Amino acid sequence: LLDSHGTLAPTIFAEMSALAASTSSINLGQGFPDEDGPVEVLEAARKAITDGANQYPPGRGVPILLEAIAAHQERFYGLRPDPGSEVLVTAGATEAIAATLLALVDAGDEVVTLEPFYDSYGAVIGLARGEHRTVPLRGPNFTVDHDDLRRAITDRTRVILLNDPHNPTGTVLDPATRALIVELAERHDAVIVSDEVYEHLLFDGRKHVPIATLPGAGSRTVTISSGGKTFSTTGWKIGWLTAPATLVSQILAVKQFLTYVNGSPFQPAIAVGLGLPDAYFTGIAATLERKRDLLESGLRSAGFEVSHPAGSYFVVADAAPLGFDDAVDLCRRLPALAGVVGVPISAFCHADLAAELRSRVRFAFCKRTEVLERASAQLAALR
Ligand code: PMP
Ligand code: GLN
Repeated sequence: LLDSHGTLAPTIFAEMSALAASTSSINLGQGFPDEDGPVEVLEAARKAITDGANQYPPGRGVPILLEAIAAHQERFYGLRPDPGSEVLVTAGATEAIAATLLALVDAGDEVVTLEPFYDSYGAVIGLARGEHRTVPLRGPNFTVDHDDLRRAITDRTRVILLNDPHNPTGTVLDPATRALIVELAERHDAVIVSDEVYEHLLFDGRKHVPIATLPGAGSRTVTISSGGKTFSTTGWKIGWLTAPATLVSQILAVKQFLTYVNGSPFQPAIAVGLGLPDAYFTGIAATLERKRDLLESGLRSAGFEVSHPAGSYFVVADAAPLGFDDAVDLCRRLPALAGVVGVPISAFCHADLAAELRSRVRFAFCKRTEVLERASAQLAALR
């Protein structure tokens, strides 16, 4: 998002949440839940404050959280990162992404991402003075073309930055695509950085597969996640990454000068969350799946053509059938037209794909059922 003058444009999420607030619209723009997460987690933070966990925590994170991150990876994926050397707690996934790219990417190095891409990717690649190459997600299901991948990943590629499940499209990578990415990373000696913040938000019986579990991937993969999505604590900014010890050390060297450390009372609370029974994790996916179906059908009734995301908490709606072919313009007018805020998909794209997807809007469905019903009813006024 560095423009031609090298300045950073305001993030779309700040702009759209401000618009929602100033127009009292339903905010389906920025992705954050409108309900609190598990009481055990909230109580653990209160207790940690009362118990005095209010000063700087250790640089890599509090031991109880490092252990909980490792145990969670073993329980769900059979991975066993060493808590002392292969895990790093960060100020949200956002800092994990920034510290990782700033540590690994030198000026002129290429970073390959899927496109559309989460907005911080483009900004941080710019801050690192890297070159951003993209692989477009195309077609009704936003899939990856393998020839596009082979063309994009070359000896110039330093990092392949994935997001699986994917924001904003909800795509979950298929096994053949994951395997090809690992093969190309090995052939071109690239590091895989995999942003898996939606790891527990998969639908229709799907199970998340971290790319680090594939043969040959573990030794060159940085896996990033966050407590924000899984425990509905986006404001706490507790994220983490797991990677081989040498990569963690390189990333820590940057992270110490970004935030140093963060969130001491929230770290043990997220550890409590990571230890919740399996039923909690399957429960949040089942609840969100119903919300996905509800918003999808509301948007379809309102006249949009709607994607069917496999994961994440976003749905992509095409406004072209309603006669709106510019989603940027539509999103600015949507508060007045329907009292709802969404985000144009073009905010996640470079110019070419932005033009192709110009009539598409991202709506978040991580909201209370009655809010999604109200939004659907209001959007029906667009017809
Ligand atoms: N990556 C993706 C794909 C996201 O959607 C988000 C959402 N906010 C983040 C990273 C940032 O996560 P955090 O809030 O933990 O910084
Ligand atoms: N991940 C959320 C989204 O995509 C929020 C991002 C943010 O506020 N930076 O909407």
